Amino acid sequence: MPGTIPHWIDGALRESTSGRTAPVTDPATGEVTGQVVLASVDEVDAAVAAATRAFPLWRDMSLAKRTTVLFAFRELLNARKGELAEIITAEHGKVLSDALGEVSRGQEVVEFACGVPHLVKGGFTENASTGVDVHSVRQPVGPVAVISPFNFPAMVPMWFFPIAIATGNTVVLKPSEKDPSAALWIAELWKQAGLPDGVFNVVQGDKVSVDRLLEHPDVKAVSFVGSTPIARYVYENGTRAGKRVQALGGAKNHMVVLPDADLDLAADAAINAGFGSAGERCMAISALVAVGGIGDDLVARIAERAATLRTGDGRRGCDMGPLVTREHRDRVSSYVDAGEAAGAKVVVDGREVRPDGAADGFWLGPTLLDNVSTDMSVYTDEIFGPVLSVLRVDTYEQALELVNGNEYGNGTAIFTNDGGAARRFQNEVEVGMIGINVPVPVPMAYYSFGGWKHSLFGDSHAHGTEGISFFTRGKVVTSRWLDPSHGGLDLGFPQNV
Ligand code: NAD
Repeated sequence: MPGTIPHWIDGALRESTSGRTAPVTDPATGEVTGQVVLASVDEVDAAVAAATRAFPLWRDMSLAKRTTVLFAFRELLNARKGELAEIITAEHGKVLSDALGEVSRGQEVVEFACGVPHLVKGGFTENASTGVDVHSVRQPVGPVAVISPFNFPAMVPMWFFPIAIATGNTVVLKPSEKDPSAALWIAELWKQAGLPDGVFNVVQGDKVSVDRLLEHPDVKAVSFVGSTPIARYVYENGTRAGKRVQALGGAKNHMVVLPDADLDLAADAAINAGFGSAGERCMAISALVAVGGIGDDLVARIAERAATLRTGDGRRGCDMGPLVTREHRDRVSSYVDAGEAAGAKVVVDGREVRPDGAADGFWLGPTLLDNVSTDMSVYTDEIFGPVLSVLRVDTYEQALELVNGNEYGNGTAIFTNDGGAARRFQNEVEVGMIGINVPVPVPMAYYSFGGWKHSLFGDSHAHGTEGISFFTRGKVVTSRWLDPSHGGLDLGFPQNV
């Protein structure tokens, strides 16, 4: 009998009395493995109250003590990340090696956050005016909410909460209801690392929880990641309620291959970036733009490689796992049907996959569509599945126009041996993260992650120095210590002398 998956509030598991739950499935078997509770408004309020109570103590704890907890968390995570990877595979479906990779990329942000004393250092100016010194400090904003998507149940929350916690804030995490268990494992780990109760809380839930977090007066900032319509909704409602909001949305990432590129390297990259994690990555490549007559050759090389991929249960050493839910698999599959009906050529057909896994798993194999045009839904929509669409253009300018004409601007890549062309592309393309002969250019933790246009609402990207400034507020202090020469009365605007 599948058990319930509860909240984590004030340092302990907390059952729900809302009476609402949602099934959690193992995508490789199709079995319901748990029922995640869906919070009521009162339960969200309880989590925010815990975070609000914990805030003064945590804010005022020295950087030395805060970083001791962060280092302990990093050590525990590093030692036990295999457990977390197994939880991710069981609820998300991605293969174990990929789940481990996700945890490692999240761990990099924890390591970045361990350097918080350096990152929040302010400036100091002695004698800015005669006898007057000026210095700046950065202080935490208060309790913050992190609302995350299904596709990275560990890494995406870790883009935010290590930095939020390191800078002295307290956190309420609302994970995706599709894979909610990773968040609870992380909460237990924080407790073991010595984090005071109430600094990190997990509320399981759906729109009811999100809406309450957006309107709750004690929540001071919201970091959201998910699809573009919900990101826009969160940004508009959160900012209307006076909060600081960063809302990362959907994507449609193009990989441009110029005629001089190494086509084997490009074909490998297209496979890895198109089908890794079954295409359920916001940095996945879904549109491949072949420039200047290389289309047939490139498609043949990709098809040859796709035929070698093993789709199946992520615990069996396969290359690619199932999709997250049956509904999502059916939706992605229907895009392939629509593309075919609109005239695209199905070169590799994932609908016919024979998986190494249970019959009821949510399978769809790697799919390669050629001769896709910009009016087909398989191109216009974010599909979020293992479907690679090939578009053909004659020139670099046409490729650039295609990328810049898209509503999304998360990631893009160019494959070429021409440094000048690559340099021009990085300058002209309207996208936040760019790979040059690198297909999935996810920035390191000490840079910031984020897209342009409808891939991000708000001004701040995730982690790196932008993460530090998102979770802190600046103050500038101007001070003068009395000396024997008193300046006397002067009602004019302060001028520096
Ligand atoms: P989603 O938008 O369905 O859900 C994201 C979060 O919003 C979840 O916590 C969910 O419970 C909540 N939510 C869902 N419906 C809601 C509603 N009506 N009102 C309020 N909250 C709601 O996204 P998903 O399917 O979980 O994740 C995939 C999406 O996330 C893709 O679009 C992908 O591109 C995007 N994504 C973007 C990035 C990025 O960095 N830009 C990273 C990862 C994923």
